[in-house]
Amino acid sequence: MINQFPTIYPDELFYSVIARYHVRTGDMRQKESLNDLFNEVSISKRPYVEFPCGLESLHSKVSLYTNATVDEWIQKHTLVPYYASFTGESNRGQLTELVRKGERNGLVFNSSGAMKYTIPPPTYLRYCPICLNEDEATVGETYWRRSHQLPGVTVCVKHAYPLHDSQVLYGHRSHEPYVAATFDVCDGGPSFIPSTAKSEWLVTRIAQESVKLLANHQGMELTRIHSFYENALREKGCVGVKGRFDHQALYHSFRAFFEPNLLHVLHHDRTFQSWRMIMPHSTNRPAHPLSHILLLLYCHKTVDDLMKWKTKAYEPFGEGPFPCLNRAASHYRKNVIQSVNVIRNKVRGLPQGIFSCHCGFQYTRLGPDPLKQQIFVTHSVRKYGSLWYNTIQQMVDGGYPIYRIAQLLNVSRSLVREHYAKKCYCEIKRQEGMLLFRPVF
Ligand SMILES: [Zn+2]
Ligand SMILES: [Zn+2]
Repeated sequence: MINQFPTIYPDELFYSVIARYHVRTGDMRQKESLNDLFNEVSISKRPYVEFPCGLESLHSKVSLYTNATVDEWIQKHTLVPYYASFTGESNRGQLTELVRKGERNGLVFNSSGAMKYTIPPPTYLRYCPICLNEDEATVGETYWRRSHQLPGVTVCVKHAYPLHDSQVLYGHRSHEPYVAATFDVCDGGPSFIPSTAKSEWLVTRIAQESVKLLANHQGMELTRIHSFYENALREKGCVGVKGRFDHQALYHSFRAFFEPNLLHVLHHDRTFQSWRMIMPHSTNRPAHPLSHILLLLYCHKTVDDLMKWKTKAYEPFGEGPFPCLNRAASHYRKNVIQSVNVIRNKVRGLPQGIFSCHCGFQYTRLGPDPLKQQIFVTHSVRKYGSLWYNTIQQMVDGGYPIYRIAQLLNVSRSLVREHYAKKCYCEIKRQEGMLLFRPVF
C-alpha cells in the first residue's frame, strides 16, 4: 500500500527518488518497499541508474502524489534524452516505450545500445559538495542528480566545481540496493583533477555540452549526423572535396587536441574506434554520446549546432554570387559571378574555388571560407582577360608610366612590362604584315 511518494527534485534521477522512497517508508528490507512500487521483483535486484522501467504502472499507483506525467518523468528524470539524442526518432521512441512499459531494467539497458559501448559509466555515483550544502540549507536533504552521473562529466555545470565520488557504486555495477544520497555516503574526493588549463577548459565544455543533451527532445537520424560532421570536418580542412578522409591524420590531430591523460579518463585513448564510428560513411551503428561531444569540441561545434543542422550539399565557399576581383572592371568587387567550380588543391589538400567572370578575369581561392572578408582575397589569377589587357593598353597609350599602371591594377611592374613588350612585339609584327591574329593572353 502506497500512502506517500517523495516530491521529485529538479534533475533528480529516478533511482534517487526510489532510494528516498525507501528511506521514508522506514522498512528494514528494501524489497518490501520496492514491491509496493513495482510489480516485478527483478527490479529490486539490480538497480539501473540510466533507465528505470515500468514507470507507467508506477505512475498510476502514485498519481495522487504527483502532477507530472510519465513522459515528463522520462524526459526530466532518466538518462533517455542523453542516450537517445544521437539515434533516430524510431529508436528514441522504442527506448521511451520500454522505460514506460518495460518490465525488466536490464532489457531496457540492452535495448538502449548502452551495453554495446566500450565506454563504462562512472565507478561511483557522484555529487557536487556545493550542491550538497545548498540542498542541506534549503530542503534539509540531498539527492542524486542526473547531470552529475553522465559518462565523462567531472564538473558541476551550475557551480563550475569538480564532482566528487561518493561511496555508492554506480547502479547496475553492483547488487547493492538503491542507496539514497546522504551526508554519510557523500564524503569522497574529486573524481578527476585536470592537470592543465586546457584540460580544465575541456572538462568544463564536455560537462556543458553533455548537460544540454538532457534537455534535448529530438532523436537525430544518422544520415543527418554524418552530413553535419562531413561539413564540420571539411571546414577544419580534414576532408578533400571528393569527401575522402585522411583517417590517420585525423586521428593524430584529434589526439593532439585532447591531452593523453584526459583521453584516458574519458576512455578514448585505446583506439579511435569509438569516435571513428561517428565519421561519415563509416558505420550505421550509433556512437556513444560522449564520443559525439568530443568530436563536436574538436570541430569547434556545439550540440546546438548539430541539432539545428539542415542537410544540404557542402559549399566550401558558401552560396553565390561571388565578386569579380578584376581591378580594371567597373564591376570590381561586385557580386557578378554566379557559381564557382571547386577542385582539390593538390599541394595543400584543401578545396580550391575557380571563379570565372564574363569579363574574362579568372581567379582562384583556397577554401573553405570561414570568414566573409576572405571573399575579396585571391590565391592566384589564372586569366586576366581582354578587358584587363585592353585597359593596360589604353593606359600605355595614354602615357601612364609603368609603375603607375602596376599600382592601379595592383600587379607587379614586371607583369605590366611583360604585357608592354608583347604589345610592342605585336605592333612590330603587324607593321611587318606578319601577324594574322592577335595573340590571346
Ligand atoms: Zn553544484
Ligand atoms: Zn569581371
